[in-house]
Amino acid sequence: MPTAYCPSCGRTWPKAPGKPCPVDGTPLQSIGPIEQLISGKLLIDKGTASLAGRKLARGGGDDPYSKAIEFLNERGLRSGDFVKIAGAKAKHKGRIVFLVQKADITEKNEAGKSVAKRQARRVGGSGRKENR
Ligand SMILES: [Zn+2]
Repeated sequence: MPTAYCPSCGRTWPKAPGKPCPVDGTPLQSIGPIEQLISGKLLIDKGTASLAGRKLARGGGDDPYSKAIEFLNERGLRSGDFVKIAGAKAKHKGRIVFLVQKADITEKNEAGKSVAKRQARRVGGSGRKENR
């Protein structure tokens, strides 16, 4: 999905460049390369998540930083986990941020392993066959 930002209010939106901003009607601008993959240690501190020195954000809301944290938490990702994130560079209120589109824990980290195992066990579920 294309992502664009509004030069007037500084918000990012999951819309094509050129469409009007839902808030103020300013034509949205392109944010450049659409998808990139970054990985590293996730840091969540003072209401901002960051990875590899980039601030993480999610578009379409009033607070893109807390939206991003919500998104990461829903996936079981916590501060200190090693993760990989797919997304795009964007501008929010004059700052360069990274718009999160997908996030996953990476294999090689101790904290992450337990998360991955927990999920694998849940998915594995009951392999029992019914008895007759
Ligand atoms: Zn706007």
